[in-house]
Amino acid sequence: MEYSNISHGLWAASATGKPELTALDGEHKTEVAIIGGGYTGLSAALHLSLAGKSSILLEANDVGFGGAGRNVGLVNAGLWLMPEDVISLVGSEHGQALIDGLGASPDLVYGLIDRYKIQCEAWRHGTLHCADSKAGYKALQQREKQWKTQGAPVRLLERDEAAQKLGTKAYLGALLDNRAGTIQPLAYAYGLARAALAEGASLYNQSPVTSLEREWEYWRLTTPNGSVLAKSVIIAVQGYPEAAFKDQVRNIVPFNYFQFATKPLDKEVLKTVLPGQNGAWDTNLILSSYRLDAMGRLIIGSVGNIENVAMGVNKAWAERSIKKVFPQIGEVEFEHAWYGRIAMTTNHIPRFHVMGENLAMVTCYNGRGIGPGTVFGKLLAQYMMGGSSKDIPLPVSQIAPVSMRALRGLFYEAGSRLYHLAQRRI
Ligand SMILES: Cc1cc2nc3c(=O)[nH]c(=O)nc-3n(C[C@H](O)[C@H](O)[C@H](O)COP(=O)(O)OP(=O)(O)OC[C@H]3O[C@@H](n4cnc5c(N)ncnc54)[C@H](O)[C@@H]3O)c2cc1C
Repeated sequence: MEYSNISHGLWAASATGKPELTALDGEHKTEVAIIGGGYTGLSAALHLSLAGKSSILLEANDVGFGGAGRNVGLVNAGLWLMPEDVISLVGSEHGQALIDGLGASPDLVYGLIDRYKIQCEAWRHGTLHCADSKAGYKALQQREKQWKTQGAPVRLLERDEAAQKLGTKAYLGALLDNRAGTIQPLAYAYGLARAALAEGASLYNQSPVTSLEREWEYWRLTTPNGSVLAKSVIIAVQGYPEAAFKDQVRNIVPFNYFQFATKPLDKEVLKTVLPGQNGAWDTNLILSSYRLDAMGRLIIGSVGNIENVAMGVNKAWAERSIKKVFPQIGEVEFEHAWYGRIAMTTNHIPRFHVMGENLAMVTCYNGRGIGPGTVFGKLLAQYMMGGSSKDIPLPVSQIAPVSMRALRGLFYEAGSRLYHLAQRRI
């Protein structure tokens, strides 16, 4: 079967509420210009408007084009790293604020969904991090201990309870995180855009920023048919930098992640697959994720792309995995397939760059951007309204190209394809 849209897949097919936006035309002036219409940029626009500041957001494609429109939709609390690692990597000055801010990030996401009545299949039933080996189970015990010390509502489920929650006996246990949940990620981006518009922000699609120059006390942002003079600029291009920011891609460790969505499952079978509608992923180095959508489709994901020969390998792996983990489904038929590029850093901590007067960027959420993007957009808005760089719970770092960047990403992906191929024998 040919899949019609391998960049945004199911999310493009099922998202409602896409805002009608035009391209920037002519000369404009604003307090804050925002480059990029994903969660970071949209949250910044919304929070600037809520504080009574004018802003213009410029998106190269359509809002949600980047990671925001392609991801798994797991609204996680915190980073991949365990709390103690976060503190040892960024120090106690920023570490505790980062843990607290991102641990509470689902509250901000679901709070905005409630406040603006965003239709994005929002479920907050918790997520399950599943142990696929004894070592994985031990790592989850560590996670549970560290998060409980932080007062987080997490609980490690033993094999039988995990099997009941998941609808499969494939795992040795699972860490339930009651702060987290799932959303339709593109619909959430559309909802944030509509909220920002309603609060007075100006948003433009098809407006790539092709140059950014200092002009007296302003920044001038140029697009193909217009320009903006702004006192401050937030750059929020993350893993999909284009035009003036194309080179930013050298500063991230990219890797691809693909997803396949089945047809809506039979009603009786659906009662037995992730019956609590939790999002789930496992402890394997080449991780797999599972979740449902509102129509009862099962969505499976893992590391890699689905271009050319990779499509066959990864589709066959996805079918085998579903048959193994959820044999009750029987024959597997996929309706949608898509993939996207995740922006990683070498130490798995996002980066905060101050690149000039009133010019800043927070980037690289390492595959966890729904909560963090929404939080850092809000914090960047506060920073541009006269806050201090200390209000952003990350050290200010220089932009430096990642050595071996491409090799790292390619090595991981090539390794994942071999792994997906090798699993044919299991
Ligand atoms: C496959 C995949 C799975 C993921 N799964 C999860 C998950 O389950 N949970 C989670 O929390 N996170 C997940 N993530 C990460 C998450 O999607 C990102 O961290 C998040 O989208 C980052 O938001 P953002 O607004 O910073 O950037 P993006 O959403 O990437 O938006 C950046 C935007 O900038 C625009 N842009 C680029 N250059 C220019 C320019 N010159 N002018 C104007 N606009 C420009 C791009 O077109 C793009 O729309 C996943 C990501 C991927 C790719």
